[in-house]
Amino acid sequence: MKAPSQYHRCPACKQGELVEATRVKTFAPHGTPVAVELRISRCTACGAELINAEQRRENLRRLQERKSAYGSLLLGEEIVALRKKYGLTQQRAAKIFGKGLIAFSRYENETSYPDASLTKLLKRAIENPSVLKALADEEGVEIPLWQARCSDERAAKLVPLPASPESALLWARLRSEREPAHPKRFEILTAGVPIHTEKMQLSGTAVNDAFVEEIRVS
Ligand SMILES: [Zn+2]
Repeated sequence: MKAPSQYHRCPACKQGELVEATRVKTFAPHGTPVAVELRISRCTACGAELINAEQRRENLRRLQERKSAYGSLLLGEEIVALRKKYGLTQQRAAKIFGKGLIAFSRYENETSYPDASLTKLLKRAIENPSVLKALADEEGVEIPLWQARCSDERAAKLVPLPASPESALLWARLRSEREPAHPKRFEILTAGVPIHTEKMQLSGTAVNDAFVEEIRVS
């Protein structure tokens, strides 16, 4: 008898046992077949196929590995990721990149691959969000998650905090001297509340008596 922890009853039929199996998914970048063996669980009674969290992680790794066979081509997942990051439907994405309505469905399923010039453009949009924005503006297409992604980007630039208002100001002063071209608007926050949002004043009086948590640079 198997230990209870190793026995996985099928949630579909509640009769059979889920056993480890594989399914092969085939892609054809540049017309050359690339097979990826994916891990699944299959029910011994009804044949239902499920994927658990561990198998999913392993499958993602295996899928990622196929990239070595793609040369300059993008994986379908990379195109999906770009689109979803900005909350775009396949139709909106198609309009932004000047393609037909079903084009993105085909690229994402890899039933066809974007040509060289579109691949180049997609890569530029992945690396540089402003490229996507410019193309969307040109086509009059709204990007639903644009503001949200911009906030993420600003948050990623948060600078971890210097221990005191004095060191925060020192840091800001050094930075503005080293990078004179850098915008000089600093927000100094304490407990998440901005206490100094003016153009940087080097006197430091604005932050007296407060414990500074972070400095935002914009
Ligand atoms: Zn079953």
